Amino acid sequence: MKSKSPNQNFSLTSLYCSTFGHRFEISNKITNYTNEYKCKSCSQEVTKVASGDIELLTFKNKEINKCLSEFFKKKLQYASTH
Ligand SMILES: [Zn+2]
Repeated sequence: MKSKSPNQNFSLTSLYCSTFGHRFEISNKITNYTNEYKCKSCSQEVTKVASGDIELLTFKNKEINKCLSEFFKKKLQYASTH
């Protein structure tokens, strides 16, 4: 049985991205100044970190954003009810 690489499409789109650059769009709004972005071509996910840099959306960064998001929502709720 001949095995076909499941990453064939991905490598083509990532070639496109490495040539023309990623086409990021906001996939998840975390706070007023932090968002998660997803590339429309290769689905690579990145996020803005506290330092203002863009980093790959790793499991660790996802967890940080989840906490940030919950904290931010609570803060907004508190501000609107007090
Ligand atoms: Zn891309």
